[in-house]
Amino acid sequence: MLRYNKILGFQKSSSRRPTLHGLLKLSQCGYSKLNSDDVTHFKSILSKPEISVVEDQDDIASYNSDWWNLMRGKSQMVLRPSSTEEVSQVLKYCNSRHLPVVPQGGNTGLVGGSVPLNDEIIISLNRMNQIIGFDSSFSIVKTQAGVVLQRLIDYLQPFGYMPPVDLGARGSCQIGGNLATNAGGIKLLKYNSLHANTIGLKVVLPDGTILDDMRALRKDNTGYHLKHLFIGSEGTLGIITETAILCPKISAASNVALFALNSFDHVQEVLTASKEFLSENLTAIEYFDKECNLIMKDNTKIFNPLGYAHNYYLLIEISNFDDTSDVETNTKAIEQKFFKFFEQVSDYVQDGVIAQDKFQFNSIWELRERIVEGFVSQGLAFTYDFSLPIDKFPAFVERMSDRLGNHARTGGYGHIGDGNIHVQASIKGHDDLELYQKLETKLEPWVFDLVEEFEGSISAEHGIGSFKSPELHRNKSDEMIKTMGQMKQIFDPNRILNPNKLFQ
Ligand SMILES: Cc1cc2nc3c(=O)[nH]c(=O)nc-3n(C[C@H](O)[C@H](O)[C@H](O)COP(=O)(O)OP(=O)(O)OC[C@H]3O[C@@H](n4cnc5c(N)ncnc54)[C@H](O)[C@@H]3O)c2cc1C
Repeated sequence: MLRYNKILGFQKSSSRRPTLHGLLKLSQCGYSKLNSDDVTHFKSILSKPEISVVEDQDDIASYNSDWWNLMRGKSQMVLRPSSTEEVSQVLKYCNSRHLPVVPQGGNTGLVGGSVPLNDEIIISLNRMNQIIGFDSSFSIVKTQAGVVLQRLIDYLQPFGYMPPVDLGARGSCQIGGNLATNAGGIKLLKYNSLHANTIGLKVVLPDGTILDDMRALRKDNTGYHLKHLFIGSEGTLGIITETAILCPKISAASNVALFALNSFDHVQEVLTASKEFLSENLTAIEYFDKECNLIMKDNTKIFNPLGYAHNYYLLIEISNFDDTSDVETNTKAIEQKFFKFFEQVSDYVQDGVIAQDKFQFNSIWELRERIVEGFVSQGLAFTYDFSLPIDKFPAFVERMSDRLGNHARTGGYGHIGDGNIHVQASIKGHDDLELYQKLETKLEPWVFDLVEEFEGSISAEHGIGSFKSPELHRNKSDEMIKTMGQMKQIFDPNRILNPNKLFQ
């Protein structure tokens, strides 16, 4: 049962999707243009102006472009404040001058929310990277918003704790960006959403008002829970500058197994069995189909130890929270749990492997986490993030694959335990823009109609940003959109914050 091939490193592609969304029409009416007095003012209110006010166009280029390299903003200036007070002064000034701004964290967002659509000023949080401290009696960590997730993971590790959120972009995304997008990721199944784990926020409103809700009390039923408005608001209501987050304990031991299956009914059987049998030990269940597996084989150096013959793969991580025993005993206990589970589901599973050390553990995870890059390496790619009824996963991918014909390779993968599927399709190579655009016209809005037909969500976890703002109505009624608009009007009447994101 325990078989494993050595998995090698990954060769990263340099080429991504082209700049199509630059074609979006912008309603910039009523905004002022940045002038030299503005620049002088920003230099006077920000500490270390030589690094907090970025004007050099070469330096600004990466801030103007998103992770896909799909967007090209025209921002002339990036401001990098280092404190809540500085953010407040910047916003107050921009509001009074009607200068639009885009808050930016790690810029790993996948829906075009973190990059200007025109010449908005970029407010980067990357100098706000102080970890304020960890209170182990309540397991709450307080940080500035610009702390990179991996750094927070490393900081909490010696205390025996970890952030409640984790995702493939951990090396670049920031905790403030995670909150602004209400990021889901690979641990939501076990530790719940950021709404459930955020216990305090400090936010600056567009007029410079500071909302300080950082007392971080476990219980506090005194009126509206305003912080929840900002979680998932994608930088359209205020700038998050500090956070207080509940952190779960790191498990005493954990391990990961990879299963190969041939029928999707069996995938569902194993999923149900894992929730019943592994229950509180279960920390993640991830899924990918045959085409994703082949895409990884053809475009990366990450190999599947179970080979390429099977139709579906499940990655299951389990953990042991009994810290009364030593690591070795716990590790053995986890392995035994997996063996028993294998026996339980042996009618459904064709093959399986369990990691035997940290390297294999990470390699199995890489196989799943880097599929997005596999598709991007294959060629110009379309990527969607949907919630769907789980039994509809294969049918959805098949319909999309049929639609694209043999022009593209289409696969599905994702956080199956939460009903979240990422559907990706790539054409061969990065040069045939004409074909890519032709296929894009075929796909959109057809693909969103299909999500409606399958009663899903057009965005499970990546958000709406600018790419999906025309489609918001598919998951929100007119009344809900109107109410969201009224909230925007209260917080940001001059519409300076992240214009044309989330809403059109
Ligand atoms: C390889 C890879 C894997 C990923 N995996 C996942 C995943 O599993 N789950 C998932 O949910 N997402 C995933 N993502 C998407 C992305 O990493 C998340 O959306 C992440 O939370 C964005 O954080 P960021 O700091 O990069 O924010 P950015 O990309 O900089 O910004 C995202 C949005 O938040 C706003 N924003 C950023 N910081 C602030 C702030 N301090 N205050 C107010 N608004 C702010 C921006 O204006 C923008 O609208 C992945 C991305 C990549 C590249």
